[in-house]
Amino acid sequence: MENVVIIGTGCAGWTAAIYTGRANLNPLVLSGTQLGGQLTTTTEVENFPGFPEGVMGPELMGRMQKQAEKFGAKVEYKKVDEISRKDDGTFSLVTDNGTIESKTVIIATGAAPRYLGLDREMELVGHGVTSCATCDGAFYRDVPVAVVGGGDSACEEANFLTRFASKVYLIHRRDELRASKIMADRVLANEKIEPVWDSGVAGYLTDGEGEVRAVTLKNLKTDVESELEVKCVFVAIGHVPNSQFVGDLVDLDENGYIEQKPRGTGTKTPGLYAAGDVADHVYRQAITAAGQGCAAAIEAERYLTDAD
Ligand code: NAP
Repeated sequence: MENVVIIGTGCAGWTAAIYTGRANLNPLVLSGTQLGGQLTTTTEVENFPGFPEGVMGPELMGRMQKQAEKFGAKVEYKKVDEISRKDDGTFSLVTDNGTIESKTVIIATGAAPRYLGLDREMELVGHGVTSCATCDGAFYRDVPVAVVGGGDSACEEANFLTRFASKVYLIHRRDELRASKIMADRVLANEKIEPVWDSGVAGYLTDGEGEVRAVTLKNLKTDVESELEVKCVFVAIGHVPNSQFVGDLVDLDENGYIEQKPRGTGTKTPGLYAAGDVADHVYRQAITAAGQGCAAAIEAERYLTDAD
């Protein structure tokens, strides 16, 4: 029987592991499908305190893992499919490789990229549709590409892609960016980036080999459709929380985020905590996820002490 199982290895998960590790709880961390979470698919993180020169996302996550392991966290490469609570108040986690029992659980599974929901979209992922510029940007050298979205992610992706692409179209459904001012200003000042305002992608057009060659653009004010030649579309329109596997041990809001108690990271089930992007639709920052991981660890530790 574990004291605490932490599901997820983003900022929230590793921080919870550092704190529960230092509290001698020997946490078990389950990696999920993406070790290191969303920051492993980003480039430079400029706003994580303590790194005035910035730090690469994968490096930051690697350092957090090292720190957690230093304090005794064990890592297993498993994905949780189901959680249930037994009559004695402990938890049973069914994974893709066996069942794990634990006294407390911290859910830090983050969120997955949202796609546009267009015809054939998921088939085209890897063939000119992607959500990760860091992963796929270098494949599109000296060709035009598009980014969809108007938030910080879209701006970050667009800027990064200018290192490779001949031109980056930033397709946004409004005529104003949602991104923070510094990111928006950077995009608007970049000569390689051409904003396409008030527009959406209505469909993907492919070549004889099944690779994207263009998109059908729709101007949302005039309904006029046109074709835009791009070799790849980077979709950056937000995320969907990875919360579905938890079942009715938690309440979800209308967008699928886990509801936390008004103060702290507790859920409606005692001993079950939620931290980071799986529960936070307001801040969604690396540092706030880390903060929630810390809070969840402290709450789990107090719960275990009270139960003794
Ligand atoms: P976001 O802020 O929610 O922005 C999503 C963007 O996609 C919005 O511009 C939205 O348009 C657009 N959008 C949503 N659904 C759409 C649809 N179906 N079709 C077309 N467009 C759609 O998401 P994000 O950019 O991923 O950022 C998430 C959080 O992470 C934010 O808190 C952000 O600050 C943070 N973040 C920070 C950094 C950084 O500081 N370096 C980098 C990346 C992300 P509307 O504007 O019209 O709603």
